Amino acid sequence: MFRDDTIAAISTPPGRGGIGVVRLSGPTSLDIAAAVFRSERLSPQSSVLSPATLEPNRAQFGHIIDPASSEPIDQAVFTYFKAPRSYTGEDIVELSCHGSPVILRRVLELLTARGARIAEPGEFTFRAFFNKRIDLAQAQAVRDVIDAQTEYQARVATRQLDGALSKRLTPLKDAVVEVIVHIESSVEFVEDDISPETVTALTDKLGLTVEGLNEIAASFSFGRLVKEGFDLAIVGSPNVGKSSVFNRLVGTDRAIVTEVPGTTRDALYESTSISGVPVRLIDTAGIRETSDVVETIGITRSRTAIADADISLLVFDASRRLQREDIELLDSVPEASRIIALNKTDLPNVLDEHLHEETGVHLAEWQNHVVSISALTGSGFDELTAKIFERLSGDAATERDDIMLTDARQHAAVLKAIYQLSHARELMIAGELEEIVLLKLRAGLEALGEISGETLTEDILGQIFSTFCIGK
Ligand code: GDP
Repeated sequence: MFRDDTIAAISTPPGRGGIGVVRLSGPTSLDIAAAVFRSERLSPQSSVLSPATLEPNRAQFGHIIDPASSEPIDQAVFTYFKAPRSYTGEDIVELSCHGSPVILRRVLELLTARGARIAEPGEFTFRAFFNKRIDLAQAQAVRDVIDAQTEYQARVATRQLDGALSKRLTPLKDAVVEVIVHIESSVEFVEDDISPETVTALTDKLGLTVEGLNEIAASFSFGRLVKEGFDLAIVGSPNVGKSSVFNRLVGTDRAIVTEVPGTTRDALYESTSISGVPVRLIDTAGIRETSDVVETIGITRSRTAIADADISLLVFDASRRLQREDIELLDSVPEASRIIALNKTDLPNVLDEHLHEETGVHLAEWQNHVVSISALTGSGFDELTAKIFERLSGDAATERDDIMLTDARQHAAVLKAIYQLSHARELMIAGELEEIVLLKLRAGLEALGEISGETLTEDILGQIFSTFCIGK
């Protein structure tokens, strides 16, 4: 997969902008870029840049020229990053031109005409990984930082980019290596039988390692949502204010709000974010008995939406008594994914007085999953979003500033390591042959290596980097 040539790509997004950057990386990037650039600083006779006239990490102002005709193409800033202290670990040149697609394409053509190859998606970052400037978890974090849609996602990815996951895994991997080395030496020197005390020390060490890995694996249930987003279904009987709540959460007037029950006859979807976690909001059709065919379809979809949602926000109208439909909904939405919003609390509260006689519960019993709001005035929405976040993050909320697994492949690798290492530990305790224990330990270590990329095959690496865009 790795080729030792010089690659080039436009690294700024398509479209027009103040600045557009063309980036080169590889052994001849300096020669190629220097051939199409004339420096302002140097005299016209010797305005060609060369390693002798170039200081790394210093910007030079000048012109991109077509070397065939000496025609100036654009003004540009030339920045040279010398290997190995560059993003990719190779010589890099960045040509910052004006952000015109026409000019950037022309510059790229000039570079490829002199032997640069157009970079594959993610190839700059792949080279950074290949040259050990970053590990695979960090390379994936580069993509996540760029793809982040919310500040919170960006923060999580930046932490990963700084190597948080790798730092957390290193001591765990070291512990496994230590156990392996210990057992290997006892296999080699047969007379060196492992004493029962050593077995205990080694199995304890493995136990702690597995515990550490379990903690990391557990962070995925929330990490997955941070990366992929979650589904929040807004459910309730007609006219309780579902569309109004939906609009408040989205911050626009997308759903139609009317006083006629049954206005929202089908589910509406909208993407927004809650505390930095992306969310697909589903404003479901009000669920009620009806003979209207269209409405019936909408209601069926609502039930599906409730079943599929990560959280269902059950809206009640606090200004009236609970109706039969409300109570049916209360029973049909699973408690684990339910948050109850008592809406219209700007009006006198009627629901509360009759709640116990209607449902047999006191409001206090819903304490942990009920919030009083008013979609009209906006009161209670901060508490509502906090409650949603709390429900999503579960235990992970306390670990918000620690590492978080957001990638399914990494999660699978951690689970595989846990499985192998726990098995190895059990076998050791049972007094199984060292060779068999070693097999399991090595499999566990290999699984951990998949996260940093040390033990991955080229195909899988290729798959991962192909999800990047060109120029990264
Ligand atoms: P849906 O059928 O459940 O989607 O309910 P809508 O959002 O269409 O609202 C039904 C009616 O209740 C509309 O007249 C809204 O203006 C009104 N409404 C919604 N939320 C509130 C609230 O918090 N307070 C008051 N006073 N009226 C509200």
